[in-house]
Amino acid sequence: MIQITMPLNFLGSVYREIRQALVDMGEMFDLLEQPAEVKDKPGAPDLKVSGGAVRLEGVSFGYDPARPILHGIDVDVPAGQTVAIVGPSGSGKSTIGRLLFRFYDVSDGALTIDGQDVRDVTQESLHRSIGVVPQDTVLFNDTIRYNIAYGREGASFSEIEAAAKAARIHDFVVSLPEGYDTQVGERGLKLSGGEKQRVGIARTLLKNPPILLLDEATSALDTETERDIQESLKAMGKGRTVITIAHRLSTVADADRIVVLEDGVVTEEGRHDDLLARGGKYAAMWARQAAEEDSEEAA
Ligand code: ATP
Repeated sequence: MIQITMPLNFLGSVYREIRQALVDMGEMFDLLEQPAEVKDKPGAPDLKVSGGAVRLEGVSFGYDPARPILHGIDVDVPAGQTVAIVGPSGSGKSTIGRLLFRFYDVSDGALTIDGQDVRDVTQESLHRSIGVVPQDTVLFNDTIRYNIAYGREGASFSEIEAAAKAARIHDFVVSLPEGYDTQVGERGLKLSGGEKQRVGIARTLLKNPPILLLDEATSALDTETERDIQESLKAMGKGRTVITIAHRLSTVADADRIVVLEDGVVTEEGRHDDLLARGGKYAAMWARQAAEEDSEEAA
């Protein structure tokens, strides 16, 4: 009996890891319906993360070979640094996230983590090493405790609580009559956008991945909540490699580096101040967004 249940347990935990990564990515990229297109190489080793440096070297990719989306791009994310990818809608930002998770294989070039090509390691170890904080955290119809614990199987209650405190959702949770046992989701208590995102942050903190992929905070949050969430995300990024996929610019100004992607090509990169001083595409995008925000505030 033991001989049978051990492998089943093992498979179960692998399955849960993959499922979790798929749920996270599904939230972020609408991937739930997508068939797995890539397979582990026979005997592939696990990814070994030392610092968490991510590199795209001459990466080209198209969902359809006849329509290339990324054209030989180089992006260097040194271990422990934060790199923001910005650019117009459809420029290929989210596609980079999908390639990092190896939901697709690059058609040319390579994507490496600490020097290991993502095609050469197990997907399970790859997914375990990367935490995703999507714009819109999907909650399971279960308790808050379960929804946070989903970040790591077997987490103790004090670990769950510590993650909730770090994500600044603990005080809210204990103010509810049933505390951590409160049912949430479709059939339970409806959480606000900011509260849901904090549950997502707590879940990711519990997973404790060396690499974070952030989809920037949703515009559905009010400015104060968004600023607050940004603070939590920034705190979570300390000591980790962070790739922020930014659909707006307001949140990327203090990234270590900003990469501007246009039509699948890197057209500018540097720090916020340098890019503003250059007076190129980024500066123009920044000026346009500032004007839009001013007119929204005036309205
Ligand atoms: P946004 O800021 O609007 O989210 P983005 O820069 O993240 O945009 P991507 O989602 O990477 O853009 O999309 C880049 C291009 O790839 C788009 O033209 C899109 O239509 C196409 N694309 C995205 N996902 C798929 C898919 N699953 N199959 C085919 N084409 C896709």
